[in-house]
Amino acid sequence: MSTVTPITEGTVDIARYRQDFPVLARPMNDRPLAFLDSAASAQKPECVIDAEARCYREYYANIHRGVYQLSQRSTEAYEGARAKVAELVNAPDKREVVFLRGTTEAVNLVASSYVRPRLEPGDEILITGMEHHSNIVPWQLLCEETGAKLVVSPINDRGEVDIDDFRGRLGPRTKFAAMVHVSNALGTINPVHEMVAAAREAGVPTLVDGAQGVPHLAVDVQAIGCDFYCFSGHKLYGPSGIGALWGRFDLLRAMRPYQGGGEMIRYVSFEGSAFAAPPQRFEAGTPNIAGAIALGVAVDYVREVGQSTIAAHEHTLLEYATARLEEIDGLRIIGTAREKAGVISFVLKGAHPHDIGTILDQEGVAVRAGHHCAQPVMERFGVPATVRASFGLYNNRDDVDALVNALYRVKEFFG
Ligand code: PLP
Repeated sequence: MSTVTPITEGTVDIARYRQDFPVLARPMNDRPLAFLDSAASAQKPECVIDAEARCYREYYANIHRGVYQLSQRSTEAYEGARAKVAELVNAPDKREVVFLRGTTEAVNLVASSYVRPRLEPGDEILITGMEHHSNIVPWQLLCEETGAKLVVSPINDRGEVDIDDFRGRLGPRTKFAAMVHVSNALGTINPVHEMVAAAREAGVPTLVDGAQGVPHLAVDVQAIGCDFYCFSGHKLYGPSGIGALWGRFDLLRAMRPYQGGGEMIRYVSFEGSAFAAPPQRFEAGTPNIAGAIALGVAVDYVREVGQSTIAAHEHTLLEYATARLEEIDGLRIIGTAREKAGVISFVLKGAHPHDIGTILDQEGVAVRAGHHCAQPVMERFGVPATVRASFGLYNNRDDVDALVNALYRVKEFFG
């Protein structure tokens, strides 16, 4: 019997939702699987797996161009998914949602189509010290090309941004600010409302990397006030290879295309071409049709469970895991922000994170070990890597207990 605690007394029981994820019932190394790597990629519920298969089985065809029924049905489902994503983040208009491969592609699109044409040598792009590589490297590439400068607002010992420092770095040369909503390496929830407000006051447009925001928190882009928000479907219980960028329509409409090709044009001649309106302007070529449709189903699923419910459940687990991990002698938690989502990174004296990850795997516990694509964060805390346990809506106290027990095995192993 599961020991999971119902998270909203009498209304929602996470144990019920666990059954929706077939992979969780599969043993790992002859033990029950404790999957604690949702920040890297979440597992998929049956309804998402079915939606993708059903699309291919029952009504798949290329979208937008077809006059026949299959194509019309695929188009409706694909565009329906766009509307669901718009609702998920409270976008005012579904035309503001661009389907892309994921967060990485979204940041690159904004860097290339929005920021690049607006940069002069000496201009600045502001980010924070806790960014994922996908919200660092595109800006570095842009700076190299244009002579602009990347400015970083550092993080403190808890792994938090100092809002006054951030505000202080918004100067007359700042042309754009990009910040992560929730750090994948530390779990820190950034005060994005305040950060965006500070940027707006300084007349600086913003992008929020919501790769770890949308899966863990209820997101309202209008309340945040940012100009762009992006996320990846695979971290939201949806398929990989599909994600979304939300952007204000007036900005999207003023932006150059990101890639040229079919679908993104109004007409083409050898003398020149005219481009489609957003979002099609940014969706060149045949997209991940079934993936987008299944992402729409993942959005339905998450909304049915309730984003606030998920956040509350993960928070309870985070508190439980933090308390249990703190009992382990020689264990140091990296990232102790006052506002944290369901991500917990740590190091253990005398054992390399990769060795820990391998031993945990033998015990049926799947965690991530490494730099989590956030090498500057590792450098900030003076560690080469961490072990990271991250939670999804399906995790329970048994998973945390399995992690803690396996860590005692690691300690035995390393003496
Ligand atoms: N940003 C954050 C905070 C992430 O955690 C990740 C993935 O781990 C990304 C960006 C990149 O996402 P993707 O690889 O899906 O493009």
